[in-house]
Amino acid sequence: MMRIYDTARQSVVPLELRDEGKVSIYVCGPTVYGPPHLGHGRHALVYDVLRRFLAWSGLEVTFASNITDIDDKIIDRAQRENRDWADIAVKCEGVWWQAMDRLNVSRPDLTPHATEYLGQMIDLIADLVDRGRAYQTSDGVYLSVEQVEGYGLLAHQSLDELRAGGGERELVGAEKKHPADFALWKLAKPGEPSWPSPWGEGRPGWHTECVVMSLDLLGEDFDLHTGGLDLTFPHHENERAQAVALDKRFARRWMHHGFVELEGEKMSKSLGNVTNLLDLMDRYDARAYRLLVLQSHYRSPIEVTETTMTNAEAALGRLDAFARRTAGLSGRADGSVLDRFRAVMEDDLDTAGATDLLFRQVREANSALDRGDDDSAAVAATTARELAAVLGLEFRVESSDVPGEIQDLADRRQEARAAKDFATADTLRDRLAQAGWTVEDSADGPILRRHGG
Ligand SMILES: [Zn+2]
Repeated sequence: MMRIYDTARQSVVPLELRDEGKVSIYVCGPTVYGPPHLGHGRHALVYDVLRRFLAWSGLEVTFASNITDIDDKIIDRAQRENRDWADIAVKCEGVWWQAMDRLNVSRPDLTPHATEYLGQMIDLIADLVDRGRAYQTSDGVYLSVEQVEGYGLLAHQSLDELRAGGGERELVGAEKKHPADFALWKLAKPGEPSWPSPWGEGRPGWHTECVVMSLDLLGEDFDLHTGGLDLTFPHHENERAQAVALDKRFARRWMHHGFVELEGEKMSKSLGNVTNLLDLMDRYDARAYRLLVLQSHYRSPIEVTETTMTNAEAALGRLDAFARRTAGLSGRADGSVLDRFRAVMEDDLDTAGATDLLFRQVREANSALDRGDDDSAAVAATTARELAAVLGLEFRVESSDVPGEIQDLADRRQEARAAKDFATADTLRDRLAQAGWTVEDSADGPILRRHGG
């Protein structure tokens, strides 16, 4: 059974599932107002690996991740640039998916958008007001955290400590009953996008969309809610607070991952200030970032530097060389290695340990070939391919290794893209995926990769 560090309990606990054989996961997705940064990339990669592993373990995974397509940051940018806010959201979402494809991150099963849930958000807020757990002020509607049992569960602070800390400072506190009370509905200022509500024209607060969407799509008492450490408080605390205030059961477990650190001055001198995920992938093999993320524990910070990225690329070179050398070999995977892999991954998602096992299999396959033992090499190679697939690592294959019919599909996709026939291009991409190939659009044209498995 998978065990993870639960932020609420502050210890590693079994992932006890609501429904046997099924796991429901909600990941807070991006606010689409600018290009994705390195933190977004880590975020997507950590839960992509978790999801792949749980599915490989035989669980039926439902993975929901939202798109925040209305938010203060989007409105601010629209006003600054005198643009339509919806246009910014649509374009930035397109860039987001492009970045996810390059990272080989699987699309969520469910991708709710905040703007599709306005009606349900208003209903939830009205319910909270009816119960006397939310109140109206001159600028919106606020949740009263003193009405919420166990508020501070994730922050690990009491209401008194939070009062001293000041809570959310987004609006003048005079009308708020407690500094940690937070906006459920924000009345619109002139020129801001707005929707009608019983409290006046306005928009929902950020914390309301995720509680509404996760409960709607995954149901009460869903298994796992995840995100970056920075989302623990106030965002996740406040999502939970709304559910509790409605007497609903919320996430059973909370999982949070660590930050991305850049090599201070050295980084900016040698690389420019690479915080943009797409820039990083232009500069390095996109797979190198996945490998870097895999080689650290998800709760530890990772350092993105020229050295760590170059080391990751060198390791990928070894994987690719192995893939070419063992391309013709197939056997059965080594069950004892798969068991060990499962055990390290189930131990709070120890991807560093799992990646070690992968590289050990690669070395094993190489040395078996060196001594002319093709049978052992085939077993090690097959095992390594299976582990790589679970970790989402793909091998780069030389163009001469691409079968004709695959190249043909890729060429036709390229023609469709050139003709801006994106529907056909997407269909061809799907057909390539079914055949076990991924196509990545790079500055030098499309690159074909065979899936690890
Ligand atoms: Zn969220």
